Amino acid sequence: MRRPFIAGNWKMNLTQSDCRSLATDLAAGLATSEGCDVAICPPFVYLETVLNAAAGSALKVGAQNLYPEPSGAFTGEVSAPMLADLGVTYAILGHSERRHILGETDAQVYSKVKAALGSGLLPIVCVGETLEQREAGRTNDVVSTQFHGSLGELSEEEFAIITIAYEPVWAIGTGKVATPEQAEEVHSNLRNVIESRYNSSVAAAVRIQYGGSVKPDNVTELMAQENIDGALVGGASLTPESFLGIVHGAIGQ
Ligand code: PEP
Repeated sequence: MRRPFIAGNWKMNLTQSDCRSLATDLAAGLATSEGCDVAICPPFVYLETVLNAAAGSALKVGAQNLYPEPSGAFTGEVSAPMLADLGVTYAILGHSERRHILGETDAQVYSKVKAALGSGLLPIVCVGETLEQREAGRTNDVVSTQFHGSLGELSEEEFAIITIAYEPVWAIGTGKVATPEQAEEVHSNLRNVIESRYNSSVAAAVRIQYGGSVKPDNVTELMAQENIDGALVGGASLTPESFLGIVHGAIGQ
């Protein structure tokens, strides 16, 4: 049984006081919700504020990125050991906005994953096709290539720590959610690719989140799919009502 995992990606949004109050409300609202891992990923500069607000609750905190080197002359970057030192648990790596806006490659994502694992952070690694790639019938090839390039060199022990987020680029922030069947098809194919690379027990254990316009009113049918184990949520993670609605919808409460 894979434990559901809902993560909120706040992207480059909110002020410090917004972050404090959102994290405080979520931490309070989660006190009663069990059976699901829940994390929020604020901007770097507000990590400590959010960590303080979430302390003692079931809410975990993640970063949205990291730099693969541990320290040095890398102006403006933040390393995995720095995030671990703060008390961060997760790191979103290879988000499509970083791949497409900032040109991040699979090889760079892989080096970030290795750095995260080396510091004890739990990576959430994003893969997903553009609309053009989907319309050209290349979805499974694109996702498989991203998997092999970003994760395929990991040992079985390292891979066991990974969460994958399948996020079709055309569904992110657009309000166009993939149908449960479209998402399930990709998740199931990805699990087969993982089985071929590792083995059936590794493939059965890895959590694969869906991401792309997840809302309280569509999460339950997405989660009902056999191979969908959670959600990576952007826009709907920015208010306590919608994010808690997604958490509760995901676990059928
Ligand atoms: C995301 O940023 O990972 C995402 C899925 O965004 P949204 O939920 O807004 O589509």
